[in-house]
Amino acid sequence: MSETVDFVVVGGGSGGCAVAGRLSEDAGTSVVLLEAGGTADNWVVKTPYALSLMVPSKLNNWHFETVPQPGLNGRIGYQPRGKGLGGSSAINAMVYIRGHKWDYDHWAELGNAGWSYADVLPYFKRSENNTEFNGAYHGQSGPLHVDRLRTDNPVHEIFLQAAREAQFRIRDDFNGEEQEGLGPYQLTQHNGERWSAARAYVHPHIATRRNLRVETEAQATRILVEGGRAVGVAYRQNDQIREIRARREVILASGAFQSPQLLMLSGIGDAAALQA
Ligand SMILES: Cc1cc2nc3c(=O)[nH]c(=O)nc-3n(C[C@H](O)[C@H](O)[C@H](O)COP(=O)(O)OP(=O)(O)OC[C@H]3O[C@@H](n4cnc5c(N)ncnc54)[C@H](O)[C@@H]3O)c2cc1C
Repeated sequence: MSETVDFVVVGGGSGGCAVAGRLSEDAGTSVVLLEAGGTADNWVVKTPYALSLMVPSKLNNWHFETVPQPGLNGRIGYQPRGKGLGGSSAINAMVYIRGHKWDYDHWAELGNAGWSYADVLPYFKRSENNTEFNGAYHGQSGPLHVDRLRTDNPVHEIFLQAAREAQFRIRDDFNGEEQEGLGPYQLTQHNGERWSAARAYVHPHIATRRNLRVETEAQATRILVEGGRAVGVAYRQNDQIREIRARREVILASGAFQSPQLLMLSGIGDAAALQA
């Protein structure tokens, strides 16, 4: 007999951690988060510069390669993607720059209700704990820490001076009213440490929320569909195939490559590609 919970979240990256963390704030809602990698709760993730150990290697990283690209003379491209709680937010460069207002508004104009900039801004603000900025564009009480770049490298000031002399606009906030310009960006860091989505939304609650269960080294292999509805997930853990069922929803958050891959493995997608 497989277990049934309210929500099954597949993938513990930036999106999956936020969703699992927020849903489980309601003690009456049961959530299971499945992550193919490990807990990623160690100094390699916390130390910003240690990204130089992860990005080129298989440490917390799927380390994908493209097929040979005709447009690149047959060369293969490298595609790093985070593996482990936090996902790509555990290996990325931590630059905190949101999308451009125009893009969100354009998505909404194309018919995607709820995606205009005015719609998404409250969620950005709610997520954020910004040490420098507050007000119309920022929040200071969310779980995701955002801080200024800590550096005393003199090249920064020389670069900014050159930009001023060349009459570029200087910005200290790339997530405010206007985004164009040059300046130092903010980072998802706290006290000089990387603040991954897992550190923001999941790690603090693993031991304390009884309604949130986090399964690591648990790779989803198929979405279970019954009567045209996603009702659960099959996953591999410790060389065993297990199943978990969702009373309310299965939330697919396995990243830009692996979410579509899992849909295809589940028989959902372009019929010709699935046939092959
Ligand atoms: C090297 C690098 C540098 C970057 N730098 C920046 C930056 O400075 N600023 C910025 O804003 N963005 C940056 N990004 C992009 C940003 O990190 C990603 O856009 C974001 O993290 C994607 O979030 P996601 O939830 O879609 O996927 P991810 O965070 O990648 O999460 C997907 C998760 O799903 C798991 N998973 C996959 N398949 C399965 C399965 N079958 N079963 C269970 N789990 C599964 C993965 O292991 C992973 O943990 C960078 C990305 C990389 C790789």
